[in-house]
Amino acid sequence: MDLKSLIRDVPDFPKPGILFRDLTTLLQNQAGLRYVIDQLVEKHANDGIHYVAGIESRGFIFGAPLAYRLGAGFIPLRKPGKLCAPVYAVEYELEYGRDRLEMHQDAIEPGRRVLIVDDLIATGGTAAAAAGLIQQAQAELHGFAFIVELTDLGGRQKLPDVPITTLVTY
Ligand code: 5GP
Repeated sequence: MDLKSLIRDVPDFPKPGILFRDLTTLLQNQAGLRYVIDQLVEKHANDGIHYVAGIESRGFIFGAPLAYRLGAGFIPLRKPGKLCAPVYAVEYELEYGRDRLEMHQDAIEPGRRVLIVDDLIATGGTAAAAAGLIQQAQAELHGFAFIVELTDLGGRQKLPDVPITTLVTY
């Protein structure tokens, strides 16, 4: 399937000079949505994944159906202040300023195998922070799955040496 034909390119969003890859046009397409989830299931069906950890917010959309299909649990990795019980936290650099991802401390038992999911990897800062949360929980990071990879930004160099699945590259 030609996924690029289902992804909308939006120039100058959210600010001038950025070309935003909009996946809402892929999500709203019945065949497209089914295809990307099926692809991720096929790639990870035999990996013994116990939990899919989805990064807020677009990682939730792809991560939850993937967890369901893999027979795994789903864990939300959230922006600050959203979770209600004690959390692990990792801060990371943005182009301007810092951000933070949090995960409930009781979300994962030590040693369980986790797949981190997001819609897109750009600089890799967000996904690297997610990996830090899995490490704090002393769980096993199996790998990462993204729909889109922006290769020029070299994001995968920021990630630990585990398998990385991407379905579309720009
Ligand atoms: P990174 O931390 O790798 O630089 O940025 C990745 C994060 O920003 C992801 O959570 C992703 O959702 C969001 N993001 C950055 N650029 C884009 C884009 O062009 N399209 C979409 N859909 N998300 C983006």
